[in-house]
Amino acid sequence: MVDAETPLSAEADDHFHDECGVFGIFGRQDAAAIVTLGLHALQHRGQEAAGIVSYDGSQFHVERHIGLIGDTFTKQSVIDRLNGNRAIGHTRYATTGGAGMRNVQPFFAELSDGGFAVAHNGNLTNAMTVQRALQKQGSIFSSTSDTETILHLVATSKERDLNSRFIDAVRQVEGAFSLVALSSKKMIGCRDPLGIRPLVLGDLDGAWILASETCALDIIGARFVRDLKPGEMVIVTSKGIESIFPFEQQKPRFCIFEYVYFARPDSSVEGRNVYDVRKRIGAELAIESPVEADIVVPVPDSGTPAAIGFSQQAGLPFELGIIRNHYVGRTFISPGDSIRHMGVKLKHNANRRMIEGKRVVLVDDSIVRGTTSQKIVQMVRDAGAKEVHMRIASPPTRASCFYGVDTPEKSKLLASRMTIEEMAEFIRVDSLGFLSMDGLYRAVGEPGRDNEQPQFCDACFSGQYPTRLADLEGSDNVRTLSLLANNGA
Ligand code: SF4
Repeated sequence: MVDAETPLSAEADDHFHDECGVFGIFGRQDAAAIVTLGLHALQHRGQEAAGIVSYDGSQFHVERHIGLIGDTFTKQSVIDRLNGNRAIGHTRYATTGGAGMRNVQPFFAELSDGGFAVAHNGNLTNAMTVQRALQKQGSIFSSTSDTETILHLVATSKERDLNSRFIDAVRQVEGAFSLVALSSKKMIGCRDPLGIRPLVLGDLDGAWILASETCALDIIGARFVRDLKPGEMVIVTSKGIESIFPFEQQKPRFCIFEYVYFARPDSSVEGRNVYDVRKRIGAELAIESPVEADIVVPVPDSGTPAAIGFSQQAGLPFELGIIRNHYVGRTFISPGDSIRHMGVKLKHNANRRMIEGKRVVLVDDSIVRGTTSQKIVQMVRDAGAKEVHMRIASPPTRASCFYGVDTPEKSKLLASRMTIEEMAEFIRVDSLGFLSMDGLYRAVGEPGRDNEQPQFCDACFSGQYPTRLADLEGSDNVRTLSLLANNGA
């Protein structure tokens, strides 16, 4: 969906976008500088804005900026303002400029017993319902983000201590949430009962760390301790760490798309190395959807590990037939409609010498609207390919995500309105193949999808959502909920 609050780059590269990364550290003098590095490693989870909140023993410091971490938080003056030995941070994929600032996280408020900051990766599916109830009781919201709901629920809870108030709050919300929160005395991490979004625990010379992915630990040389379990809440204080499980136990439903596209390939999430999974995805794809061809070419960068797996399984040469320009940023893509259509040419170029006269298998992670695929296929044909076959490292994306991923409306998803044959015609390929759902589950180490009780969230492929979508029920709020999703974590 592209609207006033959605970045143009969302359409320009035609991918689902994870909307947030979170990072926190407790017990280290240079906390804000460490958070900056952690967020830099998580930049792929959100490039539009970022924020850090630190606590120095007497007061909180809040910095929130539009732009990349490297453009804003590496200025010494900014880091110098973020004193303290504990800090949390957030990087987000969402709005740009102006009104967008009000949604930049972490959210911070002075509560009756002191300052409290919260950063959220995910999206609450009952945020509007809860917000309406809170507004009737007098709460005033200053953002359009679902995350602010959590802050209000903590603030208005009748429980006595912060842990109990936090638990009271998270028990009232539904959907996906990996949270990192900070008070004057503690850092809290919490995953929703289904564990839809990732959150890992790390250690840096005795300082506890919470981060969306392990790549954020690697950048600072921290030790990976473990994934937080679905439904787990950890409380870090100067005395150590405590783990509790405040929710009724449920079968986990981790987001399977994290393996397909969102997580960085050098991360391990839920005990699996993302790069390994992506290579296995490519191998499954080659088994399920073989093709007579001369070379396997990834659509870089996201299609690369799957293309390697495809090429190894199929015994076909892997070639970098498309080169990506890594220096195309928002400034080039966003000035206006007149250059929007050029996005793909700015970003990718065919490596003509590798492609000319060849039968090419193009491997990409997914097809969303199909506009980018169409342009890339044309570019490969223009470079002299004899045949172009496309293989997609996931099942067709047919439904929107309401769990913290920027997704177009369902009607704009190519697979929701076309058969595979029609899609092949639309993007003008000689053949088109998608990975099956069972193939995807096999690639992550399962025997296949358990259709009675699926092991993962795969709603954008299956349309079967693992939670109630309360804000949608009995209303025509699909657009509103997606707006919340886009403005949320
Ligand atoms: S709907 Fe898709 S992208 Fe969203 S959480 Fe589920 S699997 Fe992940």
